[in-house]
Amino acid sequence: MQPVNIENLQIDKLILPACRTNPVKVDVLRLDKIHPVISGNKWFKLRYYFEEALQLNRKLIITFGGAWSNHIVATAAACSIHQLKSVGIIRGERPRNLSSSLREAESYGMQLHFLSREDYSKKIIPDHLINEHYYLVPEGGYGLLGARGAGTILKSINLITYSHICCAVGTGTMIAGLATAVTTQQVVGISVLKNNFEIENSIRPLTLGTHTTPDIHHEYHFGGYAKYNQVLIDFMNACYATNQLPLDFVYTGKLCYAINDLIAKGHFAENARLLIIHSGGLQGNLSLRNDVLIF
Ligand SMILES: *Cc1c(COP(=O)(O)O)cnc(C)c1O
Repeated sequence: MQPVNIENLQIDKLILPACRTNPVKVDVLRLDKIHPVISGNKWFKLRYYFEEALQLNRKLIITFGGAWSNHIVATAAACSIHQLKSVGIIRGERPRNLSSSLREAESYGMQLHFLSREDYSKKIIPDHLINEHYYLVPEGGYGLLGARGAGTILKSINLITYSHICCAVGTGTMIAGLATAVTTQQVVGISVLKNNFEIENSIRPLTLGTHTTPDIHHEYHFGGYAKYNQVLIDFMNACYATNQLPLDFVYTGKLCYAINDLIAKGHFAENARLLIIHSGGLQGNLSLRNDVLIF
């Protein structure tokens, strides 16, 4: 598998429908460009976990995730690059047909272990896997090392031109890292989970000592995690037609839809300069029928 190439990071201008009548300017940071599989924020969230695992000379990485988890696929691919063994502990019974994400993870050599929802919620590692040589990466990369890695997303960016950094929020690890990396910018997050008001509490321990509190919006989940409707699909197709920017329907589609809506509603000052983080995840679109998106 090819290595991750951060040189491929680029910033594009983004023309959202609301920008036609509003002077707010929007750029998008293309993390989706750094690697075809470990796309986007996952590589940044994983980098210090892998650094630590390699330092400790661990040969096996264990992590947790759901059947459609981008984190599972990214961890499997990163392990294959570092020639480490990997085990993915997956929520729920083994289905007759594996999701495309899990098949992909297996193709990178990850062993899958399925846990009942109850055992999964307790994060029980099956006995036969427990030995002193494994390294546990928390579910979704959530944790201080994950946030520290996510903070490096902004390392090569000339932040001074931006007033706001905007991203999608799942576990909150990425936005926590961004909040620790900004100077004067406001950090804006769009929660992709329904009514996940606990997220502010999850972010807080990862942002201790920073002066910014992320501004999280909860109204753009489209019914919940990985739920969507025609309005979202039409928006994503229009965004591609105008900008040639591919979005995924789980995270970045909802993010860009929300930012457009917030601009239209006058949420940002007229001189605002937004940087939207394209956090990758495009392989999630494989679960859609193939005539739904124009890209
Ligand atoms: C995992 C993921 C996120 C969410 O990141 P968190 O750190 O869990 O909040 C956002 N966008 C994409 C594309 C992802 O795959």
